[in-house]
Amino acid sequence: MIFSRQQAEKSLRLLLLKLQKLTFCRSVIYHLFSIIFFINCTTIGFHNKENLNTYTFSEELTYRFCIYKEESISENRVNSLINDLSKELELYNIKLDAKVLSTYNRPAFTTKNIYLSISSLYLPANCDRLMIMLERNIFDFLLHLFLPEVMGLVESETRTRGYIFADYLSVNILVGGTPSNILIHENYHFLGCNHHIIMNDCYKSIHEHRLEALYNIKRAIDFFPSQRQSFFFIRDREKVNQIIKKLSE
Ligand SMILES: [Zn+2]
Repeated sequence: MIFSRQQAEKSLRLLLLKLQKLTFCRSVIYHLFSIIFFINCTTIGFHNKENLNTYTFSEELTYRFCIYKEESISENRVNSLINDLSKELELYNIKLDAKVLSTYNRPAFTTKNIYLSISSLYLPANCDRLMIMLERNIFDFLLHLFLPEVMGLVESETRTRGYIFADYLSVNILVGGTPSNILIHENYHFLGCNHHIIMNDCYKSIHEHRLEALYNIKRAIDFFPSQRQSFFFIRDREKVNQIIKKLSE
């Protein structure tokens, strides 16, 4: 019997929905599927329209997304990435206001050192999140022919800054690790989502972020809140930068 791609995806989604109910072995299933389908690298989880539709996202909210990029990354590529992220955020009635603030030189070769550098950057004025767009070099490509590759990260203390590799010099693009998918993935982390099989918990998190953002609008606070790993919300940019300063000391 020959399955179309849509049929295969539908069957997989139904299977995963059933498996997710077996909460006692959820983490085992998650890791198994992560390995097999690389979903840990390229997607937060599968969409579930039925669950998404249980939320109402009536008021349009603006989300200011600031970018530092390596000079070699073209404006066209950035615009294409912004466009894809913008479409994804339309699902939640969030209007993306993205702009490139400056160029940025890759600070280090290793993931750990890039992460440390990104984590020390302050969140600029008029920005809700800061994304750094970097490019790989031939050494990255060769190294990750043999080793797993981190294609993007969001720092975990404030979830307001992160980086992605915005190029195609990786075999991981063959399993969905395109710059666009990685940007969307990391942005879900900005909105408090972790890795899931099905995105139900992620929708809940985005709904909660929206409620916090609406609350900020009422109080005239100019910031789309972020959520710490401890689940406490950070409701203003000054607090974000205080946390960064404290961690850098
Ligand atoms: Zn992730």
